[in-house]
Amino acid sequence: MSRLFYQTRLARPELDRAEGIHMWDVTGKRYIDGSSGAMVSNIGHSNPRVLAAMHKQMERATFGYRLHFQTEASEALAERAAALAPEGLGRVFFVSGGSEAVESAMKLARQYALSRGEAQRYKVIARTPSYHGATLGALSVTGYAPMTAPFDPMMRPMPKVPAPRAYLDGLDAEDPATGLHYAAMLEARILEEGPETVLAFIVEPVGGASTGALVPPAEYMREIRKICDTYGVLLIHDEVMSGGGRTGRFFGAEHWDVAPDLICLSKGFGGGYVPLGAVIARDDMVETVLDHGGFIHGHTYAGNPLACAAGLAVLEEIDTQDLTGNAARMGDVLASRLRDLKQKYPVIGDVRGKGLLLAFELMRDRASKAPLPATLNAHSRLVEIAYENGLILYSRRTRGGLSGDHFLVCPPMIVNAEQVEEIVDLLDKSLA
Ligand code: PMP
Repeated sequence: MSRLFYQTRLARPELDRAEGIHMWDVTGKRYIDGSSGAMVSNIGHSNPRVLAAMHKQMERATFGYRLHFQTEASEALAERAAALAPEGLGRVFFVSGGSEAVESAMKLARQYALSRGEAQRYKVIARTPSYHGATLGALSVTGYAPMTAPFDPMMRPMPKVPAPRAYLDGLDAEDPATGLHYAAMLEARILEEGPETVLAFIVEPVGGASTGALVPPAEYMREIRKICDTYGVLLIHDEVMSGGGRTGRFFGAEHWDVAPDLICLSKGFGGGYVPLGAVIARDDMVETVLDHGGFIHGHTYAGNPLACAAGLAVLEEIDTQDLTGNAARMGDVLASRLRDLKQKYPVIGDVRGKGLLLAFELMRDRASKAPLPATLNAHSRLVEIAYENGLILYSRRTRGGLSGDHFLVCPPMIVNAEQVEEIVDLLDKSLA
């Protein structure tokens, strides 16, 4: 028996090596990484230029504590990340993962409010369903009961509004009225809570694991920006999954041309090469906090030179190989092939997403949107069958009768048209 434990005792094959979109276990069996791990290995595995950049940095220094040294790698990565962000968001705080990014954004928001004499603002409104991380602070804004309920007494659960799942509510996502309808729920919640107590609203621009690649309805993103401005509420975009080019733009929110006050990045930012994340913040917010005693926060490994050198090389690859453009192009092909599968299999109730952040959802009945019975355990069974067929998928069941089994199909952004066909064939075989 292994001494390791994670969520369960479920035994997994032993990974031998990985290259491009493929992974091999020690028996020599090959898998297509159809979910880039957990939407992490965006530029594919074993990219030689990233490995070379890491080797080069390793030979200079692997660790320099951020409060002792600045490094060329961390400065360059911060510069590059800021250049990608909307105007006015020019300050970068490094962390080692998505939960840390969310914690850091919320703490920076809180300290900014304190610096401005707004001590009564502490509530961070979030959505249900949503996932923002595993640490207790990030869980307090996570709208996903199976992961939060056991820890309720240890957290201060934050107010939630419904995620705009137009497809379940029978609304037309293309109709601006739909976006305004869901955004109005945020305004109502802010008023109910008391606007003077609301610090921030946190939102995944394109939904990730909890909603299965939920794309917001027309006007939603712009309207929530307006509402936040009206009530002095900070807007946090959790781009941990949607950032890094996967949706066909570097940041998911670029599709709607809206700028938040704080952006959380991770996953594809380190690309599976190193644990890396960041908060990109509005310059004036950071200046205000630094003028008022500094930011009381930090993680030991944050901004270490090895992680930053790898992150920089990942961003260079995304740029020079135009992987964001490829994600848009291949995403269109994959989405249309998934819609073909929807034609073929009535059990597929919905196909959604942007770029290569795509998902399909199984339903018992398309008309009523009723989910498959939980006892079928379809989300894990299909994953197991696909696994046997050599395709790795990422699935979730969003419970509470709200939604059913969904599957993220998110191969690395280097995928080509032939490989997309292969993924769809394996999926077809697994669904059959
Ligand atoms: N935010 C979002 C949107 C995520 O998808 C995740 C991870 N699934 C996190 C935060 C937490 O990131 P991590 O697991 O790296 O802590």
